[in-house]
Amino acid sequence: MIYNDGFQMDDNLRVTKCPKCGNEQFDDDAEYCRICGTPLFNICEGQEEWDNFGNVIDRTYHRNYGNSRFCERCGKPTGYFRLKLLRPYDEVEEQYKKQYSELNSLEDIDSDDLPF
Ligand SMILES: [Zn+2]
Ligand SMILES: [Zn+2]
Repeated sequence: MIYNDGFQMDDNLRVTKCPKCGNEQFDDDAEYCRICGTPLFNICEGQEEWDNFGNVIDRTYHRNYGNSRFCERCGKPTGYFRLKLLRPYDEVEEQYKKQYSELNSLEDIDSDDLPF
């Protein structure tokens, strides 16, 4: 199973096209879409680092792929998932299953065992 509903990314894991408005015009160092303000990186919520007293002293953010709902490194939800640009996997899975069964039933109709 491959969830290929994500967004196309370049080598720096930046989208090649804004996932929200479709804008394709970015500066080399742009981090947000100039048209709608959507982040151009699918960055996780950030992994906390604590000091010895349990205070959060830092957060490490990771860049993720265009179809990542959760960060592969820290397990936190990604920005695109929180912005609802990516749907929960169970919804997508459901849709795939439906499409698959529709495809199969179409094939059934096309097959040679029709009575005419
Ligand atoms: Zn945009
Ligand atoms: Zn992370």
